[in-house]
Amino acid sequence: MSLIIFNTLSGKKEVFEPLREHMVGMYVCGVTVYDYCHVGHARSGVVFDTIFRYLKHCGYDVTYVRNFTDIDDKIINRSNEQNTPWQDLTKKFIQAFYEDMGKLHIQSPTEEPKATDHIQEMLDMISLLVERGKAYESGGDVFYSVNSFDGYGQLSGKNIEDLQAGARVDVNEKKRDALDFVLWKKSKPNEPKWGSPWGEGRPGWHIECSAMARKYFGDNFDIHGGGKDLVFPHHENEIAQSCGVTDCSPARLWVHNGFVNIDKEKMSKSLGNFFTLRDIYKKFHPEALRLFLISSHYRSPIDFSMRNLGDAEKVILRFYESLDNAGSVVGEQNISLEEIKNYAFLAKCEKAMNDDFNTAVVVAHLNEESRGINSECSRIGNGDKKNLALRLAAFKFAAGLLGLLTSSPEKIRQEIFNLRKTELELDVKKIECLINDRNRARKNKDWGRADQCRDKLTQMGVVLEDTPKGTEWKIK
Ligand SMILES: [Zn+2]
Repeated sequence: MSLIIFNTLSGKKEVFEPLREHMVGMYVCGVTVYDYCHVGHARSGVVFDTIFRYLKHCGYDVTYVRNFTDIDDKIINRSNEQNTPWQDLTKKFIQAFYEDMGKLHIQSPTEEPKATDHIQEMLDMISLLVERGKAYESGGDVFYSVNSFDGYGQLSGKNIEDLQAGARVDVNEKKRDALDFVLWKKSKPNEPKWGSPWGEGRPGWHIECSAMARKYFGDNFDIHGGGKDLVFPHHENEIAQSCGVTDCSPARLWVHNGFVNIDKEKMSKSLGNFFTLRDIYKKFHPEALRLFLISSHYRSPIDFSMRNLGDAEKVILRFYESLDNAGSVVGEQNISLEEIKNYAFLAKCEKAMNDDFNTAVVVAHLNEESRGINSECSRIGNGDKKNLALRLAAFKFAAGLLGLLTSSPEKIRQEIFNLRKTELELDVKKIECLINDRNRARKNKDWGRADQCRDKLTQMGVVLEDTPKGTEWKIK
């Protein structure tokens, strides 16, 4: 059965054929390290981790490269705001990235290059582009000349004339054409800088990925991935840069994961509907987040809400319950990997994964199988324990392909219990505070304020009862 993957570049599903037999090279754009990771980062992390796991399961020797962008305008601005050296800032957020993503059971990529460790590779590539007439220096900056590349716009399906019409508003005097993008930026005073043939400066964002991918893979590799928001301009520009050097697209397949919406609205800092992983982990178990993220196909948008996460947590608990139930029924049984691989349930899951990594269907299979295992446990009596043991092993193995069920039922239950406990304590404090506020307001005859407090409590699902002994409350 062949693996089929949707290619953004062709706009079609294609049969996957690696460039080199049994080997896969995959480059995925990583995070810019100036803040804590949010749920959008988690989605990309989990999606490509699941693809990485599945390619290995298919028997490929996978080289997975995921970078850190550790020099960028946002990093410089943040380090100025916080009066912290940029190196300290990026170090702190790389550390936080590992802590937060680690909880999602994301496996380490083969290589995790940092942009600032590859300045020479970037300079080499920019020099080649200048030599070949694809780039030009202007006032200490170096720009890529978009007009020099006929294929521009192919990945994103954008038309170069439309782009030009849209770009005129923001004309930089140093550029020959409004669409040209920066490869090397002259540094301003007190900015991080490196020496170059064009004076001191720092690299543009797009050249980082092209140069790092080229270092690890040479001119061509199999899969380039990232979030959908990177298709234009980041990946379009990467293709332009690499083609400018080698005359061919760097990656064969371009794979992009969909957006995360929050309560049906686009996630953004300005809308305030923004969740860091740290916020989420205070309320829900990371494994529930991982399950939620792969319960949809990776290309579809997903609608994130605390309610959806709560539902995912119930499902994950049910999966562990099946492990627990069946485990206590079958006891110790020897099941070989060969037996698991020949078991029909696994073939069903592989079929879904081979169709453009359809994890949503695998999750549905797991749901069904979990129910099946539970009902078999309740009626097995002296029946075929060996078959149930095999069924359980295959269930666990398939979940493992998605990076799920890597813990134990006891541990998960305890961790979720601890989360609920903390959450409830916090709420109790808040509720008591609001009741005291309301009582004070009533004493002062500030009825508006008293009503406000009552409304807030109602929203939290709290019902108040004013008794002669004082105000009592309960949860609706
Ligand atoms: Zn990139």
